[in-house]
Amino acid sequence: MPLLRFDGVSKTYDGPHTALSDLSFSVAEGELLFVTGHSGAGKSTLLRLIHLSERPSRGSVLVDDRNLAKVRGRQVALHRRRVGVVHQDHRLLTDRSVYENVALPLLIAGTPSAEVGKRVRVMLDKVGLGARERARPGELSAGEQQRVGIARAMVSQPRLLLADEPTGNLDPTLAAEIMQLFAAMPAQGTAVMIASHDLALVKRMRRRVLVLDHGKLADDISPEDLAS
Ligand code: ADP
Repeated sequence: MPLLRFDGVSKTYDGPHTALSDLSFSVAEGELLFVTGHSGAGKSTLLRLIHLSERPSRGSVLVDDRNLAKVRGRQVALHRRRVGVVHQDHRLLTDRSVYENVALPLLIAGTPSAEVGKRVRVMLDKVGLGARERARPGELSAGEQQRVGIARAMVSQPRLLLADEPTGNLDPTLAAEIMQLFAAMPAQGTAVMIASHDLALVKRMRRRVLVLDHGKLADDISPEDLAS
């Protein structure tokens, strides 16, 4: 059973534009793949449908064979614990410490406080920020801020992590470091889907690439094909 399946999905926003048109593909458990395409191709919309910040106009999105159309009301929050998101602008709370930012999803989920401390510290160590837990986001570099955003998305141990242009604000060296963090996630049981228009970076990673063109799935490139 695939972790994620799009079955004939279209999305039309108000207005004349079709953002996504008849998309079908599957993602296996623990897979890491990219979604690429020009600005406006539909990358963010695709991720938003998985995270339930938008609903399809036609077709279905299934996670673990469950149609997300049936995930409503309070179940949406539960769904979002299994599907984490990293934003380009990371959206950290600037008046809270690094520790508090990462702990927040666990506190909202009602995790016991002893457990919260343990999990936040393990996660901060993993992203290389173990020594900065008391810092405010404003005292950190752009790359470090993005690492906090990743730690916050991963602390709930999601089955799937969605990242929308996660390296858009970073120089190439920092971007490569962030990509290495993502690359380590499948081994920890989290599949990763990264939207990026940075083709050079995507190619270097040698992973599966979904190519969107004006809302259509123009290509689904396997790592083997990328190598040739
Ligand atoms: P990408 O992430 O590849 O840049 P988007 O998913 O953001 O693409 O956008 C796909 C298309 O949908 C574009 O034509 C965009 O203008 C349109 N669009 C995206 N979000 C909205 C929205 N909230 N309302 C109306 N149109 C939107």
